[in-house]
Amino acid sequence: MLSFFPIPYPDELFYSVMCRYHVRSGNRSFRQTKLDLFNTVGSKQYYLGLPNSLATLVHQLPFGSSLTINQLLQEHTLFPYYRTFLTNREVKRLRELMEGKESKSIAQVAKIPKLRLYYPEYLRFCPQCLAEDLQQYGETFWHRNHQISGIRGCLTHRVGLQNSRVLVSEMGKGFIAADENNCVGDGVSYDEEVLQGLWEFSKVIEEKMKYKGGFKGLEGLMDEYKESLMSLGLLEEKRLAEAMLKRYGEGVLRVIHPEMMDNLGEYVSGCLLGCDMKSA
Ligand SMILES: [Zn+2]
Repeated sequence: MLSFFPIPYPDELFYSVMCRYHVRSGNRSFRQTKLDLFNTVGSKQYYLGLPNSLATLVHQLPFGSSLTINQLLQEHTLFPYYRTFLTNREVKRLRELMEGKESKSIAQVAKIPKLRLYYPEYLRFCPQCLAEDLQQYGETFWHRNHQISGIRGCLTHRVGLQNSRVLVSEMGKGFIAADENNCVGDGVSYDEEVLQGLWEFSKVIEEKMKYKGGFKGLEGLMDEYKESLMSLGLLEEKRLAEAMLKRYGEGVLRVIHPEMMDNLGEYVSGCLLGCDMKSA
């Protein structure tokens, strides 16, 4: 049994809690921290925000700890984000994998695209959250919501998220806690209109993450899109692209998915109406 385990802060990424455990444990190696927490040094896919071996960890939490697997999944991992487009059966499978020891097929079950384009390159932070966390808790931490692909603005402060100096790819190798040295702004700023659009986009994602179950599969989604677009008179590549540009603005779409803008019409019709969804 562990002698202590940090109490996760609100919206703290699971990886971040482990980082704080590592710092406080005084362990000299990341290996020892992995052994402490999971009884194994096997690879974990923290970089996806979908850790596994949660049952092992929860079983050895210190006496009196009330932290549950469900709490970890819902509040500290990207499980609520990825489950949005998974059927109930797929959600159950993902949950089993995250509770258990096997990590290899997590990305596949969560249907995460292999393209690196879909992953943030660096862990992100909000400068205002950083300042408030330091004031309130005396330390800062990696926020879960800041690491979600489509979320580019802080939901609390409505400011753009900044890249820290910690590469997401480093997460699998060690436990790097957020601090004032690695959370240094990257200088990126957005004009007010883009910021507002990014914030609205983030709000949509946040709402989706609260919704549990009911996804009927990608084919069902495609049918829903078709029906809605037809009623709006937008079931046509060019018109759909124009409507999307009008709704979100080019600035916002470029931040969220730069490559999409190279051929917006083809991209949206491929995504929403593509036949390849059936085999996905
Ligand atoms: Zn913030």
